[in-house]
Amino acid sequence: MAAFKYDPKSLVADEFINDAEIRETLAWAEAHKNDAALVDEIIEKARPRPRPEGGCTCAGLTHREASLLLACEIPEKVERIFQVAEEIKLAFYGNRIVIFAPLYLSNYCVNGCLYCPYHLKNKTMPRRKLSQDEVRAEVVALQDMGHKRLAIESGEDPVHNPIEYILDCIKTIYSVHHKNGDIRRVNVNIAATTVENYRKLKEAGIGTYILFQETYHKESYLRLHPTGPKHDYNWHTEAMDRAMEGGIDDVGLGVLFGLELYKYEFAGLVMHAEHLEAVHGVGPHTISVPRVKRADDIDPDAFDNGISDETFAKIAACIRLAVPYTGMIVSTRETEKVRAQLLRCGVSQVSGGSRTSVGGYTEQERPHETEQFDVSDQRTLDDVVRWLMESDHVPSFCTACYRAGRTGDRFMSLCKTGQILNCCHPNALMTLAEYLVDYATPETKKVGWAMIERELAKIPKENVRRVAAENIEAIKNSDRRDFRF
Ligand code: SAM
Repeated sequence: MAAFKYDPKSLVADEFINDAEIRETLAWAEAHKNDAALVDEIIEKARPRPRPEGGCTCAGLTHREASLLLACEIPEKVERIFQVAEEIKLAFYGNRIVIFAPLYLSNYCVNGCLYCPYHLKNKTMPRRKLSQDEVRAEVVALQDMGHKRLAIESGEDPVHNPIEYILDCIKTIYSVHHKNGDIRRVNVNIAATTVENYRKLKEAGIGTYILFQETYHKESYLRLHPTGPKHDYNWHTEAMDRAMEGGIDDVGLGVLFGLELYKYEFAGLVMHAEHLEAVHGVGPHTISVPRVKRADDIDPDAFDNGISDETFAKIAACIRLAVPYTGMIVSTRETEKVRAQLLRCGVSQVSGGSRTSVGGYTEQERPHETEQFDVSDQRTLDDVVRWLMESDHVPSFCTACYRAGRTGDRFMSLCKTGQILNCCHPNALMTLAEYLVDYATPETKKVGWAMIERELAKIPKENVRRVAAENIEAIKNSDRRDFRF
């Protein structure tokens, strides 16, 4: 392999995710991981600081600093990392947790990913692609649960799932208004594509473009993606730059933990965030932390790098310290117990009531035939909403930011100026009120109205608090919906 020089501003994958730099980072982190004074200094740097003009800021961490914290094994320092992760989460996002669901459109795929059951050589899995009528039916089912925000998922297949198909599906999703429901934000998780296609997705009104790197380790990447367009590591790794060139402001990164050594992946992930900040002036909107799961012909134990729940939580906490303004997502791949643990490490979004099969939401029983992976948290959305509230998290169905043009750096500045409590918090409460009136079980309603009462009082601006309360009354007493600040 040619020797590439590390350059966060470069647009060449091997330079901004630089193997030599990652190796040096890991060696440096290993050498200094027990240097308590240095660990303290880095943790202190990561803590939120009040700004004289209101709100607070966080410095974030470089990939070297963050890697050192991840390597640190001094128990009280690790405990401190967890505390600061929670502190940062509360400072910027408050106690809100954004809720979404994945919607699987098609499992046709021409790639050969070794960890994914949609791989081309899997002849036992029935292939299915939703028609527009089926998309409509799935969306009605999702709206009947109470969802407002979706992440669409699809295999890569230029014949069965061309960009036109994805665009049609997005149009259909936004067009469905069932009872008081609608889908207000469609995030898109599809394979790396061209600037022109990203432009089309932007024009279709998508929220975040999500693409998991799977692994930042190039050699492993090439081995794990032996065939198909996804084999092209550079095309895949440089996708977010093309997405941003195509006008998409909000991009979501992720690593599929379990494929490679987690410390390597972590350094790569933080470097990717640094690269986006250096080139585009704005970091990733979200980071997802999936772990490889059992699926049709996939055995997660076939991969050597599985991580314990403790390590997983530590990774999440270190991500929180490194990239404080980035939302962090944990899916139903994880159990209730692990999700509860991660909520305390800075996670800001969870999925609920998910089905990972094509057409799964319209089936009475959870179908397994076309499932992409086993869902560990199989609770209903209502159970998840109540569970969040019982641990003092406000479930938020809010989708206001991108619809009000607060994407990219504009969203980040909302975070930094502390205006979130006058904006996101009332929006969360109003969308929670919609959920309670339109979809919740009596038990959840009870917990929910008590929470809204408590949480309204936290809105600092008197007029915002008053308007939010009035809107919530209107939601209770009429069909008026979709209020937002
Ligand atoms: N096909 C698109 C692509 O190639 O990026 C994205 C859609 S795919 C449905 C979404 C993600 O599911 C993948 O990026 C991968 O990280 C994850 N995934 C695949 N197989 C998995 C498994 N066995 N367990 C957990 N997650 C898996």
